Amino acid sequence: MYEDLNKKVAVITGGSKGIGTAISKRFGQEHMSVVINYNSDAEGAQVAADEVEQNGGKAVIVQANVATEEGNAALLKAALDNFGDLDIWVNNAGMETKSPTHELSLDDWNRVIAIDQTGVFLGSKTALNYFKEQGKPGNIINMSSVHEQIPWPTFSSYAAAKGGVKMFTKTIAMEYAKEGIRVNAIGPGAINTPINAKKFADKEQYDQTVSMVPMNRIGKPEEVAAGAAWLASSESSYVTGVTLFIDGGMTLYPAFMNGQG
Ligand code: NAD
Repeated sequence: MYEDLNKKVAVITGGSKGIGTAISKRFGQEHMSVVINYNSDAEGAQVAADEVEQNGGKAVIVQANVATEEGNAALLKAALDNFGDLDIWVNNAGMETKSPTHELSLDDWNRVIAIDQTGVFLGSKTALNYFKEQGKPGNIINMSSVHEQIPWPTFSSYAAAKGGVKMFTKTIAMEYAKEGIRVNAIGPGAINTPINAKKFADKEQYDQTVSMVPMNRIGKPEEVAAGAAWLASSESSYVTGVTLFIDGGMTLYPAFMNGQG
C-alpha cells in the first residue's frame, strides 16, 4: 500500500478486462477513486468497479472509445463530476492484429494505430491540459509492451504502435518535467489476460511462449498492476520517461540463455 495514493483520482482506459481490471482492483486496494473506461464490455467494467468498491475505493464506469477526442473528454468529465479532480491517467486500452504485413489491410493497420498509439496521445493530451490548467503535478502511465523493443513479425502494426508509445512517453516526459508532471510507460511481457486467451489455450503455443521467458512462467495481471501502483505513487517521485519492463526477463535476449552465440 502507498499511503499517498489514498483518495487520489485515476482514469484507467480499457478497464473491462485483463491488465486494466487488475490495475483498477489494485487502485481500489489503495483506496483510490477510479474512472473505469470500457468500449463494449459494460459487464466486465461493472465487475471491475465492484472489485474496486469491495476493496475500499470508489468507482464509476464510462463507455468511451479511446481513439476519439470526445471519448477522452468524457473520461475526464466523469472524473471531475464524480470525484472532483484528476491525479493519474492510465492509457491502458489496446488491441492487436496478426497478419503478414504484405497482406495487412489499411483498415486493420489504422485500427491498431488509432487505439494503441493515437489513443495514448489523446488520453495524454486530455490529462496534460487538465494538469496544466490546475498547475498540478499529475502523473501519466502508458501501457506499452516488450514489443516497443522486440520486433514481432506478423504484428507489425502493434510493434509500430508500441514503439511509438515509447518515444511519445519519453518526449512528453521531457516536455512537461519542469511542471512536475511525470510520464512513464510499462512494458509487459507475456501476461495471462483475454488478449492471449486463444494462444495460451493451445499447449504448444503456451509452452513456446514460456520458453521465451527466462523466469520460465507467464506473468499475472496483478504483477503489472503492482508496477502501475508504484509509478502512480510518490515512491517513484524521481522517475520519469522510463519504460518499466514487467516481463520475467523477456527483454534480456533469452536465446542467449545457455551461453550460445
Ligand atoms: P485485453 O484484451 O484483456 O484488454 C484490453 C482492453 O482494452 C479491453 O478492456 C478492451 O475493451 C479495451 N479496448 C480496446 N479497444 C478500446 C477502445 N477503442 N476504447 C476503449 N477501450 C478499448 O488486453 P490486456 O492484455 O489486458 O492488455 C492491456 C494493455 O496491455 C494493452 O495496451 C496491451 O497492448 C498491453 N500489453 C499486454 C500484454 C499481455 O501479454 N497481455 C503484453 C504487453 C502489452
